[in-house]
This record gives sequence, structure tokens and C-alpha cells, in this order.
Amino acid sequence: MGQTAKTPRGNRTITVDFQDESTYFRLLNDGKAFVECVLAFLLSLGFQLTHKSTCHGGDSLTRHSHYVRIRLGGLTIWRIQCTRCKAVFTVLPHFVLRYRQMRPDVARDALVATHGGLSLEWCATICHISPMALYRVICAFGQHSLVSVLTRCGLRLPAYILADEKHSRCLTAKVYLPTIVSGRVLWHLGYSASKSAAAFTQSYGVFQQVALAQEPSYRVKGALTDGFDSTVSSMRTLFPGARLGYCLRHALNKLPDKLIGLSAPVRQGLRSQFHTLLHRCRQRKSLRVVALGQRLRHFAAHIATTVGEAHGERVRSWFQAKKAGWYTVLADPQMPAMSTVLDQAHNAIDRKLFAMKGFHHPGGSQAAFLTGLAHLYNLIPYQRRALHAGKCRVAVEGGRLPTADWMLNLQILTSGGYQCAPAPPHH
Ligand SMILES: [Zn+2]
Repeated sequence: MGQTAKTPRGNRTITVDFQDESTYFRLLNDGKAFVECVLAFLLSLGFQLTHKSTCHGGDSLTRHSHYVRIRLGGLTIWRIQCTRCKAVFTVLPHFVLRYRQMRPDVARDALVATHGGLSLEWCATICHISPMALYRVICAFGQHSLVSVLTRCGLRLPAYILADEKHSRCLTAKVYLPTIVSGRVLWHLGYSASKSAAAFTQSYGVFQQVALAQEPSYRVKGALTDGFDSTVSSMRTLFPGARLGYCLRHALNKLPDKLIGLSAPVRQGLRSQFHTLLHRCRQRKSLRVVALGQRLRHFAAHIATTVGEAHGERVRSWFQAKKAGWYTVLADPQMPAMSTVLDQAHNAIDRKLFAMKGFHHPGGSQAAFLTGLAHLYNLIPYQRRALHAGKCRVAVEGGRLPTADWMLNLQILTSGGYQCAPAPPHH
């Protein structure tokens, strides 16, 4: 196993919801009804099948061949074929996972427990499966990119993104998880053994490549980072036309570090003045950038007179280095100003990684495992309040989900045989 998620090649498996198992077994003996049921399900999803490139698709499908899954108690699996391009699709009924003996309802419980932060070992214990089997299920879902799953739900590729790296550990080595968030949804969760600009560019570049393959005209308009050099430079390299903003909350939290040797109350007092300053600038409807420049100069002068010229100078040169990124945030109302959502996502992922010894083995497929965790993060319902009760992050962001069942959605959305229907015309 390598460290990069492999793209599934020629995988034309489709998961089909037959409602209940007896329906499936009844249809096994009736080829015409079987194909009709599959077509009806396709229609309800609004997806198309991944035909060969020469084929315009369509619904000229026929039953092709079948085989028997011994490990699933002799279950018959049918394949269907496009009569035009001869592409063959394996139809997996909803109660079967691709290449797994584990049933989806068993996986469902183990995955919820995993998502909730329980270790692979404990999840496996309460669900009577092996930790490695659970690890492999997560990796299998993680073979499918976040971008392809999210766009299948009708979400637009994000014009404005938050990018930051989570610091974590693999055994004794420090590792970094480059992450892209937009709204409440994770669009990229990578894995890097180095914090160099080149390493981050490579990781964020994976997102860019998949996005461009999906939509060749895709451009990032704005990216918010915490101002870390490697992140900023990887964003510049990958998205040369994008506005680059620095997170205002990171700025707030950094200020006390610049006031070395001062007492905590003094530093906290200045931090809260800085908070008011940034807040007032954001509230202004116009000339926010001009207002910020003036206020930063006055604030640095205020620090110099109240706590000493050395502090004033240190803060002034820090402002000088960072203010362009803060201007950017204030200049474009659509730019995200703070990376709070991203920090929340990182904290959620971190709790899992900490609880998860399965992650910490160098031969593991970290990229696939992390992507699998990110799918769970996006698709498992988490909202309890009335407005969004029972919804997952994709739904809260306005995405369409194939069914009301998150586990079935995960199976369907990571089926290699489906592809997005072309976007409907706007008229
Ligand atoms: Zn075809």
C-alpha cells in the first residue's frame, strides 16, 4: 500500500437500492424486471453510468452475466451491459459492500463509532469485526475523492476556500494534514511527511487536479490561510489568480506573542483592543482597507507610548508583514475572515486520529484512510437543532443526497460506475 489514494480504474460497480432483500432475490429470476428496476433507480438518482468515452450513454441496457459470491453465502451478483459501447456494470445490491464480506449494517455501526472518536480496536470489539477489516473498509471508501463525491451531490466547486494544515504524528514522526474546507464541508484532507512548500503544493495540488478534471474552467477566487509561509506559497503556486487572505483570528491570537516579557493582563488588554479594531473595520461597509491602515498605525504608536518603543517596533514590523493578507480579507466581502470552521474540522479529525492506532503504521494507506474519514465527516448526520435536524454537512450546505440513509449514500456516492449528469441548462 502506498501513501497516495489510487484512482479506481475501470471500476464500473454500481450500488442499487432494491428496498429490501426479498425484492432482490425475486428479481434475480426475471431479467427484464431486474433491468427495469435498475433503470428506475438510476432515474431517481439523476446519475448517469460511466459508459465508454465513445458512447453517449442512454438506457439501452441488457442483463449480461452473473457470478456467485461464495463469501457472501453464495449470493448471485448480476452484471448489466450497455448494448452500444459494451461497457459492463456490476450491480451490487444495497445490502452488500464492494469486495467485503462485512454487511453494510455492521459497517454502519462501526463507522459511526469511529466517527464518534472510538478507536478502531474498540469499534471492532463492540461490533464483532476485526480492527483491520474496519480500517480496510474506511480505506476502500477513501479511494474515491472528496471532490467527486461532493460534486455528485450537486455542490459547486468552492470559489473561496480555507486552507490549513493539522500537525499530527505517525508513530514518532511528525506529519501534516493539508486541509481544504469550504462552508462546513471538507474538500481535501491530505497527508504529508514534510512541511515544505513543495510538499504542501503537492498535497493541495491533488485537490486542484481532481477539480480541474471535473471542471476545466475551475478557478479559486480567494483562499484564507493563517499566513504560514509554506501554505501561502503553495496557494500562490497553485492558484495564481486567487486573493490570499490571512485569518483575522490567528492575528488576534498572535499579538500577545509579540509582546514578550509583558505581564499577562497587559497583553490581554492590548489583545482585546486589537480585537475591537479588527471588528470595527469589518463592520464598515466601505473604505474598510483605508480604515485598517490608519488604525494599525495608530495602534502600533499606542503600544510604543504605553509599553515601550521596542514593543511598538516589533508590532509595527509584524503588521507590515501581515497587513496585505488582512487587507485582502476586508477588501472582498465574500472572503472568509476566520478559519473557525476549519479548526473545528481539524479538532474533530484529530480526536479520531488520536484514538486510532490503526492510523499510526507507516505501511498503511494514510491518504485513503484520511479521505475515508473525511467522507464520514461530510456524510454522517450531525445536526440536532430544529432547522437542520438530522442533516449531514453536505445537506446543510445545500447538497442533494441520493437517499435518506447516510450509509447507503456513502455506498452509492463511492460507486465507480456512476458519474454526474451534465449540469442542467440555466433556462
Ligand atoms: Zn454505452
